[in-house]
Amino acid sequence: MPTLLLTHPDCLLHDMGEGHPERPDRLRAVDKALSAPAFAALKREQAPLADIAAIERLHPPRYVEAIRAASPRQGLVWLDPDTAMCPKSFDAALRATGAVVHAVDQVMSGAVNNAFCAVRPPGHHAEPSRPMGFCLFNNVAIAALHARAAHGAERVAVVDFDVHHGNGTQDAFWSDKDLFYGSTHQMPLFPGTGALSETGAGNIFNAPLNPLDGSSRFREAFLSRILPALHNFGPDVLLISAGFDAHRDDPLAQIELTEEDFAWVTEKLVEMAEKHAGGRVVSTLEGGYNLQALARSTAAHVEVLMQASS
Ligand SMILES: [Zn+2]
Repeated sequence: MPTLLLTHPDCLLHDMGEGHPERPDRLRAVDKALSAPAFAALKREQAPLADIAAIERLHPPRYVEAIRAASPRQGLVWLDPDTAMCPKSFDAALRATGAVVHAVDQVMSGAVNNAFCAVRPPGHHAEPSRPMGFCLFNNVAIAALHARAAHGAERVAVVDFDVHHGNGTQDAFWSDKDLFYGSTHQMPLFPGTGALSETGAGNIFNAPLNPLDGSSRFREAFLSRILPALHNFGPDVLLISAGFDAHRDDPLAQIELTEEDFAWVTEKLVEMAEKHAGGRVVSTLEGGYNLQALARSTAAHVEVLMQASS
C-alpha cells in the first residue's frame, strides 16, 4: 500500500511576517524534496478543512471562536510574542488539523498503512485554551481524540521528537491513561516544560536532552525510555509529532542530529507500530527551521514510512 501524503496550498498562505522562522518557505522546501522521483509512489491528497466538531473535542468552543474572531482583515495580529495570525491563518490552521484528522481516517479504515502531513501551522505547543509557540490548534492531539471517538481506538500514542517539548499535547493527555505522550527535547529551552518528573497519570514519558547531546544520547533516550514505555503501552495507532529542529544545522536549538538520526527513530517507531498497531502510523510536521536540513530530514523520514508500507 502507498504512503499517504497530505498537504494544501492554504498552508503556504499563513505568513507571520518577514524574518519569522516559521515561514511558508519551510513547506515549499518540503514540497520540493518530496517531488523527487524517489517519492513518486506517494498517494497525494489535498488536506480537507477540519470539522469544527473534531477540533472541539480538544479546544473549548469559546477558544475556537476566539481564534476565528482574532483573524485580521489585513496585516498581522499577535496572539503571543511568537505567534501571529494573518488573514489566511485560520484556514491554514483548519487545513493543518484537517490533514491529520483525515490521515487518521485513512489509516484507521485500512485505506493506507501510514501517512505524512506536510502542513503548517504546527500544533504541539497549543494548549486546550491557549495558542503559543507558532501553534493555533493542536493538530496531533485533536487527531488522537478523533481516533478514539470516530474509530474506536482504545489506546493512542503520540511520540514527539521535535527539539521543543510539546507542552500542549502533554497538557491535553495529562490525566488520561489511555493516551500516551513520549517526547525527546532540549532542556532548558522553550517552552520550559518536559522534565523527567512530569509523568501525568503514568502516561507521560519525557526524555529531556542537554544542549550538544547529539546522536548517541538521542538514540539512548529512545532505547532506554521512550520505546520501552511505548511497548508497554501497546498503542492501537501511533501518531508522530515530527519536528526536525533537533538537526545540527537548525538555528533554534543545539541537539546536533543528522537526517540519519531521523531515519533511525522513524524505523524504531515503525517497528513498534507494526508490533502493536498493525503498522498504523500518522506523522505530522512540527518544527524545523533550516530549509535544507528540514528538506533532507523530512525526505529521510518519509522514505522510511514508504519502505514500511511497501
Ligand atoms: Zn520545535
